[in-house]
Amino acid sequence: MEGNWAKIGLYISIAVTGLLVLGFVAESVGLLGGGEGAVSNEPIWLLDTATGESWSVSQKEFTEMMQQQGGDPMMMMAGPGQMAFNNPKTGKKTVVIAEKCAKCGAVFVPNYTQDYPDRCPKCKSSRLEELSKESK
Ligand SMILES: [Zn+2]
Repeated sequence: MEGNWAKIGLYISIAVTGLLVLGFVAESVGLLGGGEGAVSNEPIWLLDTATGESWSVSQKEFTEMMQQQGGDPMMMMAGPGQMAFNNPKTGKKTVVIAEKCAKCGAVFVPNYTQDYPDRCPKCKSSRLEELSKESK
């Protein structure tokens, strides 16, 4: 009996982690909340993987950029970090959505193969991890 409950608990925690990651991605592309007013004003960080240059755009600018380049938000949900955009300066498709570390300010590409995709490569802090600790 006890073994079963442990298994169920594990499944739930996996599901919760999945939801957190999905919610995080949806939030970063401004899909959550629906209405215009619900979209957060947090900037979206972009990183050019070729030049190492990083800059931020507003959610509105980002949506416009995606529309101009034929980006599909659902495609991004399917493969976060896989989708690249044209750099307006170089014209090359080397720009990806990045994360800015709230602690040390490093801008980096989220790594979806690690425990928390937003774990900072410099100071190892993760906003997702902190959120998941808080909710426990
Ligand atoms: Zn950091």
